[in-house]
Amino acid sequence: MPRYVNFTLMGKHRWGLVVDGGVLELTSSPYDGGPLAVEGEDEGGVRGDVLPWDLLVLDPPARPTKVVAVGRNYAEHAAELGNDVPAEPLLFIKPPSCLIGHDAAIVYPTGQTELVHHEGELALVIGRRARHVAEADADRYILGYTVMNDVTARDLQRKDVQFTRAKSFDTFGPLGPWVDTDFAPADQRIRVHVNGELRQDSTLDKMVFQPRFLVAYVSRIMTLEPGDVITTGTPSGVGPLLPGDTVEVSIAGLGALRNAVVAVSGS
Ligand code: MG
Repeated sequence: MPRYVNFTLMGKHRWGLVVDGGVLELTSSPYDGGPLAVEGEDEGGVRGDVLPWDLLVLDPPARPTKVVAVGRNYAEHAAELGNDVPAEPLLFIKPPSCLIGHDAAIVYPTGQTELVHHEGELALVIGRRARHVAEADADRYILGYTVMNDVTARDLQRKDVQFTRAKSFDTFGPLGPWVDTDFAPADQRIRVHVNGELRQDSTLDKMVFQPRFLVAYVSRIMTLEPGDVITTGTPSGVGPLLPGDTVEVSIAGLGALRNAVVAVSGS
């Protein structure tokens, strides 16, 4: 199960392959569109010794030109916010500037919002340029899957016609820890814990629009570039985050994404 990370070591961003006990540095990005770097492992696709996890700062495992998000993609979540399930995917964009990696801090925008919510989601990452892709071919364009927390200022989302402000604060896009190229979404459990307390608990088969359909649908609207992310919506149970909280989004067989929430005065 190849799992790719992006990490910072001694001030430099690097790509890596998850192995027993840590990470091996890759000699090229897994997003180059051709064969993945790891396939050339025997010819030198990796270098150096295994780097232990505690040496590494994890960055988001993709460098997207855009994060395309899907709203109301689980019926129970649409209902809890008083919405119907849309007949077509409800799309919005989160800017790449909001992304942070596993264990980085979500900064609470004190003074600008009074209701920040977690939204645990399955995200897919594009591996090659996709335009007008057929649903049956979509897997060829998906590099793999990762975990996202679509952090949302719910009060601003309700107040604004557009979702942009509510969804776009810096650090409102935790993504990671890695991209898993073998994960196949089916009926795996997706859960969110806040300070150890279970908040969201569902299964991926409850998504109204499934990942392959979403790749096809979005690719008819905009060209998807290697590294672009589609985050597939959140199940029911969304709720507040406060400074001092730790939030963990986990998907069985894929991984767990953990982030603390901090207050920065004057932010
Ligand atoms: Mg969402």
